[in-house]
Amino acid sequence: MYDIIIIGAGPAGLTSAIYAARGGKSVLVLEANMAGGQIVNTPMIENYPGIFEIKGFEYTMNLVKQATDKGAVIKYETVTKMDVSDSEKIVYTNAGEYKSNAIIVATGLKRRKLEIEGEEEYSGKGVSYCATCDGAFYRNKDVAVIGGGNTALEDALFLSEYCNKVYIIHRRDTFRGEKEYADRIKNKDNISLVLNSEPVKITGEDTVTAIEVNNKETDESVILEVSGVFIAVGQIPSNGIFDKVLDLDEQGYINAGEDCYTDKAGVFVAGDCRKKKIRQLATAVGDGAVAALAAMEYLL
Ligand code: NAP
Repeated sequence: MYDIIIIGAGPAGLTSAIYAARGGKSVLVLEANMAGGQIVNTPMIENYPGIFEIKGFEYTMNLVKQATDKGAVIKYETVTKMDVSDSEKIVYTNAGEYKSNAIIVATGLKRRKLEIEGEEEYSGKGVSYCATCDGAFYRNKDVAVIGGGNTALEDALFLSEYCNKVYIIHRRDTFRGEKEYADRIKNKDNISLVLNSEPVKITGEDTVTAIEVNNKETDESVILEVSGVFIAVGQIPSNGIFDKVLDLDEQGYINAGEDCYTDKAGVFVAGDCRKKKIRQLATAVGDGAVAALAAMEYLL
């Protein structure tokens, strides 16, 4: 029996854990994968106020240490369902069940698939969703990054340090990602932009050897010979298990306002899995604090 169970050990969940444990509550954090969520794979965080720059992994380790030093317990188990109908709530995992008086859902997002031919077949054989995890395997090779958001631009800059050539394949001619990244990319000799273009097919033998790309303006297709394809086309919420329990919007985000209250008493939501406009480290951490304080107020 815990005061608060937090589902998800990303920046939002771990911030909630720090606040709640520091507030004297017994806190269990349940995490299906490794702690940190998306930020653990971010090469360098440069826009978190007060920290000039820090590697995503190092930042995650700091969060984990801060939460556990304050008394939060982290268990690496997958939540399969939860029962929130009573004031005493039950969270079921692959390893057991836990009870609490309040729950904070902070399950974040997962990478969106491109859903083109060859993506599934070559996943792990040249197709990757994590440049920081897999980039080093492509030293001196040619690779492609798909997408035009901050993740794609960061991935391309990171890969350009290892790879011979990096193609950025983007479906428009302007980037959704920040200008600062776009400016840095312009100064990189080994990054080549393939704009107004959509990937059609990933091909290979045992591993990836090429990607076919269609130019939307000319309707011409080109084959780019690459050993790796890094897909960074956005994210989707991981809220499937809460479908019948919490109010989700049509895209699967949990409906809740800035106060982080869900439609169920004693259940709060924090971070990227909440319906919101801006998804940044700073806003996830802000949600984490708000949700923990709301949960503590509820417990009073
Ligand atoms: P994102 O901002 O949603 O960008 C996704 C990109 O993929 C867009 O350029 C989009 O094209 C493209 N795309 C989507 N579906 C596609 C498809 N089927 N085929 C081809 N291209 C497709 O996602 P993100 O880059 O993962 O970033 C997610 C959030 O995290 C954002 O809020 C971002 O600012 C934040 N983030 C921040 C930082 C940072 O602050 N340093 C770093 C990483 C991420 P269109 O532009 O045409 O829609």
